[in-house]
Amino acid sequence: MNNHTDKQQLNADVAFHLDSVTESGILKYRSDALPTWCPGCGYYGITHGLTQALNELQIENRNLVLISGIGCAGRYPFFVNGYGFHTVHGRGVPVACGVKMANPELTVLAVGGDGDGFGIGGGHLPHGIRRNVDITYIVFDNSIYGLTKGQTSPTTPIGQVSKTTPYGNPDMPLRPVVMGLAYGASFLGLGYAGKPDELKGLFKQAILHRGFSFVVITTPCLTFDHVNITYDRMRDIWEPMPKDHDPGNFESAMALAIDPEYYYGVLYQSNRPSWDDVQADIAVKAKG
Ligand code: SF4
Ligand code: MG
Repeated sequence: MNNHTDKQQLNADVAFHLDSVTESGILKYRSDALPTWCPGCGYYGITHGLTQALNELQIENRNLVLISGIGCAGRYPFFVNGYGFHTVHGRGVPVACGVKMANPELTVLAVGGDGDGFGIGGGHLPHGIRRNVDITYIVFDNSIYGLTKGQTSPTTPIGQVSKTTPYGNPDMPLRPVVMGLAYGASFLGLGYAGKPDELKGLFKQAILHRGFSFVVITTPCLTFDHVNITYDRMRDIWEPMPKDHDPGNFESAMALAIDPEYYYGVLYQSNRPSWDDVQADIAVKAKG
């Protein structure tokens, strides 16, 4: 094929793709503001998975609330056609819990990065999880501070060079899923931004779960990380949860949480009462 034919084919492919995206209905969850993330950022894959999930669950825009903290993920509410709140560092979880407590009819999502959620917001997460308010908290974990230009974060591996650790990170990274299990998460999901179709299913389960859904998505920051979470390195090392894994089995979930392999899917789910259910019981008791 000559260059002219190549270009015609490319244009036809793009037009077909745009048509299929438009027909799918997912664009109704996108605002008029175009995302300002770097080209190729994993957040686009997460967005594609999430909009597909919202569309398949037929969540109405007027019932959708997306709350963020600070960081590259903090910009997310601007790009979503729903209600939103860009809060301050690490405060996405408590604000999202408050919104849901005030109006249980809403579908409330909180998003944030690893720095926002595990560094600055590290004190809020345990209490959000243990209270089990019915929200979905999605952490975009790229193991780096992206918005502030590439510093070591709470999940950066030992030895990784960054602007704040030019001789290699000396600190033990925390393990979000081990922490989530220890705090009593009633839903714990794992995903990878490079697999948006798998993310769709994971997000649907997380949103439908009644209680605090903690979803950790590994996502490449291709601007500031060229060695750890890269598309090339991640491509072949992700695998589905083992077929014999029972998400209702806490010990099995913990064994996988400390396993150095990368798995995606539902790691753990229990049906302990959500905050809303507990409050309903208390209201009955209080009335005698
Ligand atoms: Fe994405 Fe990294 Fe760019 Fe932030 S700095 S938008 S995380 S690629
Ligand atoms: Mg980060």
